[in-house]
Amino acid sequence: MAKLKLAINWAAGCGGCDVAILDTNEKLLDIAEVADIVFWPIAMDFKVEDLEKMEPGSIDLCFFNGGIRNSKEEGLARLLREKSKVMVAFGACASWGGIPALANMNTRDEIFHTVYQDTHTTINEKNVYPKPVSCVPEGELHIPELYQRVWSLDQVLDVDYFVPGCPPTPQTIWNAIEIILSGKLPPKGSVIGAGK
Ligand code: SF4
Repeated sequence: MAKLKLAINWAAGCGGCDVAILDTNEKLLDIAEVADIVFWPIAMDFKVEDLEKMEPGSIDLCFFNGGIRNSKEEGLARLLREKSKVMVAFGACASWGGIPALANMNTRDEIFHTVYQDTHTTINEKNVYPKPVSCVPEGELHIPELYQRVWSLDQVLDVDYFVPGCPPTPQTIWNAIEIILSGKLPPKGSVIGAGK
């Protein structure tokens, strides 16, 4: 059987979902037997340019963890969607917003004010705040635009399946991979992998 080409990405989340994949311990060897990881920035050396050069649909499966809070996360999510046959919102943050979406209870300006003015350890006499990319002179380092709110992955693009958990357990991860490998896919939009 041909190996799955697997991409893994971390957006607005704590990183626990990436760690959960490593925490599959000996199951990681089973995963390596059935899947080649072709993109996993946190664990391996990849360039986005290499991803851009891939043909659309050339990745079999993408586990995307974390919500969408900034322009970089959205850009990478859209690129991975284009390149992936099956796009999976992996974990609670990607699926439903999770803990990062608690920030939606405040506006972006309120968050900036707290972080860049109000905290006791902040000294910011010149009122320096992050600038949108369009305001940064060419050649200067910039950070991605922080959006007004956090979005779950399916609020931004088309998602095929959802894997639950914060983070998903090793068994849930393995179950999800087995379902994809079996080709017996449930209806699009289903939650997969949960259970024994
Ligand atoms: Fe972290 Fe939980 Fe979000 Fe995964 S679902 S990124 S473990 S907060």
